[in-house]
Amino acid sequence: VEFKIIDDFFKPYSSHRADVLLGIGDDCALVKPPRDQLLAISTDTLVEGVHFLHGTSAHSIGHKALAVSLSDLAAMGAEPAWVLLSLSLPHIDEDWLNQFRQGFFQLASEYNLPLIGGNTCQGSLSIATHIIGVVPPSKAITRSGAQPGDGIYITGYLGEAGLALLALQHKIPLSSAPLAQAQKRLDYPDPRIAVGLALRGIASAAIDISDGLAADLSHILEQSQVGASIPLANLPISPLMQSIPVEKAHELILSAGDDYELCFTVPAKLEPELKQVLKCPYHCIGVIDDIPGLRILDADAKPLSLQKKGYEHF
Ligand SMILES: [Mg+2]
Repeated sequence: VEFKIIDDFFKPYSSHRADVLLGIGDDCALVKPPRDQLLAISTDTLVEGVHFLHGTSAHSIGHKALAVSLSDLAAMGAEPAWVLLSLSLPHIDEDWLNQFRQGFFQLASEYNLPLIGGNTCQGSLSIATHIIGVVPPSKAITRSGAQPGDGIYITGYLGEAGLALLALQHKIPLSSAPLAQAQKRLDYPDPRIAVGLALRGIASAAIDISDGLAADLSHILEQSQVGASIPLANLPISPLMQSIPVEKAHELILSAGDDYELCFTVPAKLEPELKQVLKCPYHCIGVIDDIPGLRILDADAKPLSLQKKGYEHF
C-alpha cells in the first residue's frame, strides 16, 4: 500500500487561500494569479551532507527548506503566495515526518502560505521546495539594476551560520551558549520578506546572501556591469562574532553562506526613505563604482586576494 505522504501527512495542515481553486490531491493545483501582478518563481534543493549536516533535526530541516525559498522571494521584493514540496526520503519515519511538517508549517503559517502540491520518492534525504510569489511588474528587484554611486547595504549580521557550521564540525572551539545562538542562525534562518517588500521602489538591486557576501555581491556587480571597493572595516561584526579572531570573523562574513540576509543597493537620493521603511538592523558597507569587479580593502586600503569567494555549487 502506497503511503500518500503529501495527501495524508501534509494536506490537513496547510493553510487556505481563496486564490487556490484546487489544492493538493489532483494532478495539478489550480490557482488564480492576482490581476496585473507578475509571478516570481523559484526552486531550491537541500541535500543531506551538502546543505545540512547528518543528524540535523527534522524540525529545522522543515523550517530551512521553506526559508531558503522564501529568501529568494524576499530578494526580489515578492510576496509569498504558494509553495510545493518534493521529498526524497531513505525510508518512512513518522516521527521525522511529524517534526519536519511542524517546522515547515510553523514558518508557512507566518505568511499564510498554502502548500498546493508535492511528491515523495525513496532515495537519499533531500528536500526541494518550489515557491511562487507575486510582485507588481515595475516593483520586482533584480540583480542588474545597481548604478555607480548607489550605496551597498546588508541587513543584520553575517557569518554566524558559518560559525555554527565550523563549531559543529569541531573546526573552531565555541562554548555552548554562543554555539546555541549561532546554531539558531544556521538551522532557523529568518527570511527577510518584510525587508524585500519595504525595498520595493527603493532598492536598485538585491540578492539574498546564501553563498557568502563576496560571491553574492559579485553577482550583483556582474549583472549590473559595475564594481565596488569594500573596506574590511565597513563589515559589521556581531557581538557573537566578536568572540572569535577578527580575521576569522572577516573570512566568515565574506565567504560563509547560509545567513540568508539581503544585500542590496540604493541610489543616494533614496537613502532618507530607506531609513524610514527599514525596521531591522542594516549597514552600508560601500558604494557602487564603475570599475568592474569586487575589491575588498585591508586597513591600508590594499585589495585582499580572496581565497575562497563563497560556497561553490559545483
Ligand atoms: Mg537567492
